[in-house]
Amino acid sequence: MKKMRIEDIEDKVRVCRKCPLYKTRNKYVIGNGDLNSSIMFIGEAPGRQEDMQGKAFVGESGILLDKMLASVGLDRNHIYMSNVVKCRPPENRVPHKGEINACMDYLREQFLLMHPKIIVLLGSVAAKAIISPDFLVMKSHGEVIERKGVYFIATFHPSALLRDQSKKPLAWEDLKKLKKLIKEVNN
Ligand code: URA
Ligand code: SF4
Repeated sequence: MKKMRIEDIEDKVRVCRKCPLYKTRNKYVIGNGDLNSSIMFIGEAPGRQEDMQGKAFVGESGILLDKMLASVGLDRNHIYMSNVVKCRPPENRVPHKGEINACMDYLREQFLLMHPKIIVLLGSVAAKAIISPDFLVMKSHGEVIERKGVYFIATFHPSALLRDQSKKPLAWEDLKKLKKLIKEVNN
């Protein structure tokens, strides 16, 4: 059932021309993982590896994300991961507001399909798009925000951690909070 509905979303993304990113991408990246999971991770946009393989978080950031997941006893087969935009921006530039808005319908559909209890926002693009335009990851990472029974928590994007190792301890604190949240929500 869910598999069929994600295929419906995928059918729309495949032919989507709602923003210019379809012109330069190689493969669209809708997301991967377990659609029956209660936890959804949302990143920014596909990078080079993702664009080549059509899968989310398979490049360097994905390798670090796997380690982050392992630190809270999760792995990528037990969560669902996606991005705010489904096509790679040229040279990995930050997706523009118009592109994010154009693509948001698909993430909304994924949300409605999954009904996750916990949403983890990776980096400021995702946090601003999903929580609030003035959300600052540096200030509010690790805070749990509840909206209509769904818990949101933002942390640093793995690629930001690869650029600046000094943020890693902060991200690890956030992951501990996520672990606690998962326990609470599942009880
Ligand atoms: N960075 C993201 O935000 N998403 C991916 O899928 C890969 C890298
Ligand atoms: Fe469509 Fe999203 Fe790709 Fe833009 S990024 S073309 S809105 S699927």
